[in-house]
Amino acid sequence: MPPEAMRFCLQFLADRLEAESARKGKDCQRQLVRRERMGVSSKAWAELRRMVLERDDYTCQYCGGYGDTVDHVVPLAANGETTKDNLVAACLPCNSSKRDRPVAEWEMGPCR
Ligand SMILES: [Zn+2]
Repeated sequence: MPPEAMRFCLQFLADRLEAESARKGKDCQRQLVRRERMGVSSKAWAELRRMVLERDDYTCQYCGGYGDTVDHVVPLAANGETTKDNLVAACLPCNSSKRDRPVAEWEMGPCR
């Protein structure tokens, strides 16, 4: 391979790696912001999450289906707290359609 082509290849790879790590960094930062917003460490969150899921028997509290995600009943956006009293088990469709809205404003309703 001529040195010129080699240099081009290396530069191409370096650019791609840089773009990739920039993207990953952004994802990390987004997660970090979310954690900070919740006011709990990731370890405390993992513990809390497990407690809530076990309490609710992995049952979505909105539609009664299998739920393995945890939802804030009073959303973080409305200053809801990250405590087990404000958390319920929810299935992914319910959780992602509810997002940051309070239950009363959740117009889409349960996922089924
Ligand atoms: Zn559900």
